[in-house]
Parts: sequence; C-alpha cells; structure tokens
Amino acid sequence: MNLLVNFFKSNNDKRNEEYLFALNRNIDNEYIDTIFLFVEDVSHVEGIESEKVKIVELDSRPTFQDIIDFGNKELKGQQCIISNTDIFMDDTLSHVKDNDISNLFLSLTRWDVKTDGTIEYYDVENKGWTQDTYIYESPIDIKDANFFVGLPGQENRLAYLAYEAGLNVINPSLLVIIKHFHLTDYTSDSNSRHSENRVQGKYLYVKTSKTFEPPPHYDTVMCQESDDGELEWIKDRVVPNYKSGVHTQNKKHSGVLVTGGTGLVGNAVRRLVQEKNDSPFFSIDANFLSSSDCDLRDWNKVNQLFGDEMPEVVIHLAGKVGGVKANSDQVADFYTDNIMMNTNVLHAAHKHDIPKLINMLSSCIYPDKVKYPIKEKSLHDGPPHDSNFGYAYAKRMLEVQSRAYSQQYFKNFISVIPNNIFGEHDNFHRNDSHVIPAIIRKMYEAKNRCSDVKLWGDGTPLRQFTYSYDIANILFYIVNNYNSNEPINIGCSDEISISEAAQVIAEAIGFEGNITWRTDMPSGQHRKPCDYKKLKSIGWKTFTPFKEAIKNTCDWYMKNYPNVRGI
Ligand code: NAP
Repeated sequence: MNLLVNFFKSNNDKRNEEYLFALNRNIDNEYIDTIFLFVEDVSHVEGIESEKVKIVELDSRPTFQDIIDFGNKELKGQQCIISNTDIFMDDTLSHVKDNDISNLFLSLTRWDVKTDGTIEYYDVENKGWTQDTYIYESPIDIKDANFFVGLPGQENRLAYLAYEAGLNVINPSLLVIIKHFHLTDYTSDSNSRHSENRVQGKYLYVKTSKTFEPPPHYDTVMCQESDDGELEWIKDRVVPNYKSGVHTQNKKHSGVLVTGGTGLVGNAVRRLVQEKNDSPFFSIDANFLSSSDCDLRDWNKVNQLFGDEMPEVVIHLAGKVGGVKANSDQVADFYTDNIMMNTNVLHAAHKHDIPKLINMLSSCIYPDKVKYPIKEKSLHDGPPHDSNFGYAYAKRMLEVQSRAYSQQYFKNFISVIPNNIFGEHDNFHRNDSHVIPAIIRKMYEAKNRCSDVKLWGDGTPLRQFTYSYDIANILFYIVNNYNSNEPINIGCSDEISISEAAQVIAEAIGFEGNITWRTDMPSGQHRKPCDYKKLKSIGWKTFTPFKEAIKNTCDWYMKNYPNVRGI
C-alpha cells in the first residue's frame, strides 16, 4: 500500500515532534510499502531517512488534486492512502489490504490518541463526521480538489467530490483504525465551523459503518451547501453506540472470550452482550466459559482453549471468590487456585498474542492500613487484611504479572479494581456470601417466616457498592477506551452505610419486621473508600441508582428462589 502525505515543518516544535512520531509509526507499519512525502520545501524533510520514504517536490503548497493526480499517474491499480501529517495507522490496515476496494472511497474518521495511551473515537456529538484519511485504489476520477491539505472543511469536501465521481464513499472506522496523535493543544476545531478559510462547496458527511458495505442509511448520507461558512448540523443522524462495542483490530483474532461467564459479573456481561446484539448496530461474538468448559488451573486445557478460540479480547472474570469465612478457612486454596488460573490465562494470552486482556482485581486486596480515598498506586504499599491474604496476594500477583508482560512484551493487559459488586446471579450462600446477598436472603426468609432479622455489627460502616450490570458496561468501555498497564479503580463512588442498604433491601423485598443490630459481632472497618478520579477522567460517570439496582436484584431473587446460587 502507498501512503501519500503532505509534509512540512511547523513553527511549533511540539507539532514537528508529532509529525515525526506519526511518520515513524507509519514507516514501521508492515502494511505500508511506500510513503510519498509531498513537500514544497525539501529542507523540511532533511534528516528523514528510510528506504520506504520517497520525496515528491512541488513548486507550491500541495493540494489534494496534486496528490490524487500523482497517484493516478504513478500508482495505477495500487491502493493509496491520503492522510494528514499527524495521523498514523496500525495493523487494521490488513482489512483494507485483503479487500477489493476498487470503486470504494474509504473516508475515515480518526481515533484520538491521548498522552495517557487511551484512544477515543472522534465521532462524538457536535463534532460531526469529519474525516482525516482516505483510502482508494488509483486511478480515481476526482476533479476540482484544488484546495490545500489541512484547511477546515477539506475532509468532507473531498468525500463529496469522491461521491460526485461515482465512488461508494464509506467510513468503516471501526474496522480500519487511523490514529491521530497530539502532544500539543493545537486544534483547528474552534475555527472549523466559521473560518473564512473553509473550503467552499458541497460537503459529504459519512456515517460510520461496521463493514466495507455502504451503511444501511446510505441514501441519507448528508451533503449540504456551505456558502456562508456556517454549517447547519443535521439533527436526525443515527450514531452507533460504538463505545460499548468491540471493534476488530486484526484478522487473526476475533470475538470476546469471557472467563467466569457463569458468575455474578459473567452473567451481567452476558445480559449486556445480548442487549447489544439485539440492537441494529452490533454483533459481538462472545463465548462465556464456566469451570466445566475449561478448568483454568490446567495449563494444557487453557493453552488449547486459547489456540482454538483466538479471541480478540479476553475478559478474565474467573476466580475463586468467597466471603470472609471461606477466605480464612481455605486461605491456601484461595491463593493456589487463583494464582494458577491467572498465571495460565495470562501466559496463554501472551503466547497466542491476544490483542487485549482485562483482569479483575478487587478493592479488598488493597493494604489494610492505607490512606483514603484509596488510589491505584497504593496497591502494594502494605500487607492486605489478615482474613483474606491468600486471595489478596494472588490477585496482587495478577497485577504484577500483567504489568511484567506489558513491560517486556508490550502486551495490552489491563488490571481493573472493582469495589463491592452485587446483582442478579450473585451467591446467596448462608455463610459464604457478600453483605448484600446475605441481607437479601435473611430478609426474604424472615419475611416468609413472619419473623424479625438480626444483622451483624452496628450497621454504621460505609461501603461503595456497584451493580454488576454497571461493571459489565464499564468493562466494555475499558475495552475501547483504556490501554494503560496502570491499574484502574472501577465502580460507583457513593458511600452507603450497611443500615441504609438494609433499609433499601427491606423496601424492595417487602420485609416489614424489625432489624436488630448485633453489636456484639464485629462491624468491620468504618469506611474504606476508593478513588475514582481515573475512571472519571476517561469519561465514565453514569451508574444505575442504588435503589433501582437493589430492586432489580431482589425481584430477580424472589422470582428465582430457591433456584439461586448458594441455596
Ligand atoms: P463468581 O460469581 O464467584 O463467579 C466465579 C466464576 O469463576 C464462575 O463463572 C466460575 O465458574 C469461575 N471459576 C471458578 N473457578 C474456576 C476454575 N478453576 N476454572 C474456570 N473457571 C472457574 O465471581 P464474580 O463475583 O462474578 O467475580 C468475578 C471477578 O470479579 C472475580 O475475579 C472476582 O475476584 C472479582 N471481584 C468480585 C467482586 C464481588 O463483589 N463479587 C468484587 C471485586 C472483584 P463455575 O460457575 O463453573 O464455578
């Protein structure tokens, strides 16, 4: 494939760093064979040395027409990418290379790479479907593209000219990822709607499609006059909820493998995937595993499973999980089972080159004595609570192993740290459940017996609880928006006292008896809140209200009782 780029030196050093960063990434891209740099001044490309790079010197600043004409003449029958200077591509170019793109004009919206390594699709509300990169097979019959690369409006004007030329203009940016890199806060956004420099003429806004076919609403792709430079944004557009979906990154791997698919969180992920697949925009191919499908403690089975499945994303939820009593009675089993499962899963993900893996840690593995609210960086700052040290150290090693693979082998292995999770399909075992399912069971059974309930402690401790369905949503958000090997706390930051939670549960169950607090029994630490600044900073804010989540959980429990886990 050929990459055709307008290249120049900016007065801003940071911008130049960005241009060189993007150029070097493109030079390293195995799918790009030759890079043509179009320059007005050859001194601007001094020091750029690569066998892949060829310089095309022009008498004046390059226009799109110059670049297209060059491709038409010199690169007949070849795939061409025209791109802005600060854009680089990854191995998703394989999708283009393996496709017949004659008669197509790929008009791609960028993904913004942030300095923390996360990427975000640019096609968000009020920003419009602007395109930064075009891919086609030369020659194409585009005329009148006599405007400079980089002017406001260029992207949608060029898309329109391609449309006029009879090409099928599509925007499969979820399949072909073009990345835009900024170290600076430079943006042309502020002037792009009003600037007098805006390229004049009709524009084409190309909706994102998931395939190389034109999207179903192709006939409603929008063009409009821009005679006064003022754009009237179209209101009725249908924007796919790409953020919760999984985009395909390369061809060898596909689909999502969910370990622990039969558990509390696994069932919530299953519900989410089902809902997504029921919507017109998504098809997520997910496989949910139980321990009987594959005992993750057995390396041979795990190795074979990953080799057979070759998933694009692994959401690793499986774990030996339990309440305080089980954790201390079986402290060695909690350590060994978890460490074996995690070691096998991570090593298999490495061996089979899985593009992304999400690991579940837990806020209960943080040091016992720690500063509140607990930040991710304090994970290893002191020993965990004695009651669950087997589980806690095994989970901490999951983070260590993940970081080690990321550092040595550049793996995209992510560690997330949720707080107390509750929801449908929880474990309602009498002695071995977490606080919310334990209270639900006690109250429901007391209601049926018309008796009162006794709960441990004084009810004052504060905890952060998160609905399993919200965790499932956050996990998919992390799949698409977080790519750092630094762990991230995930969950709702509201602190709720145990007595308040008990009241909400009583209401949802319809329990009208008395609640007695057994102050002779331990209450636990008063509070242990985590810090959720990082989660907020990547854009996640919405949670199901606690009352609503408890109501859903209790309704599900009462409907399914006694066929629920732990009874
Ligand atoms: P869960 O309901 O107890 O489910 C555990 C899952 O792991 C089940 O699907 C189970 O499969 C699977 N599993 C257990 N041993 C296995 C083995 N040897 N091989 C393969 N699969 C095995 O757990 P959860 O509450 O959904 O928790 C999911 C993850 O989140 C866990 O890693 C947990 O540590 C973490 N977490 C949970 C909470 C919470 O409050 N629940 C809080 C923070 C973090 P089977 O059904 O076949 O046994």
